[in-house]
Amino acid sequence: MDNLFCLRCNREIEPGGKSVAVYLFAQTVGVRPRQKSPAQRICFCPQCSVSLAMGPAPEGALNLAAWQMIRDIVGADPALTEAAWESLHGVDEGMLPATGTAGPVSPARIGPYFEF
Ligand SMILES: [Zn+2]
Repeated sequence: MDNLFCLRCNREIEPGGKSVAVYLFAQTVGVRPRQKSPAQRICFCPQCSVSLAMGPAPEGALNLAAWQMIRDIVGADPALTEAAWESLHGVDEGMLPATGTAGPVSPARIGPYFEF
C-alpha cells in the first residue's frame, strides 16, 4: 500500500493512521458506454481536517463541496478533534497559543466550536 501524504501539510499518514480521506471520481451520465475516471484518494491529517472544518468556506464549488463533507465528518466525531489535539501536543509542545489558564486546552474546550 502506498504511503499517503496530507494534501494540505504534506505530513505522512501511516497506513491505518487517523485521517480523513476524500474519494473523488468522475463518470459520464446519459452517454453509452459509460465512462468512469480512476478514483482519486485525497487525505487530510487530523490537524488539517479540523483546521479546514473550523476555517472559512473555500472558493470554488468543488472545494466547497469537499469542505462541507469534511465539516460533517469532523463535526460528527470528537475522536478526530482529539487526535488532532494529541498530535499537536506531542509534536509541537510549547508552540500552543497561550490560553490564560493553567494547563493546556482540553478537547472539551475545543468541542463547542463544532456545534455549527
Ligand atoms: Zn495535514
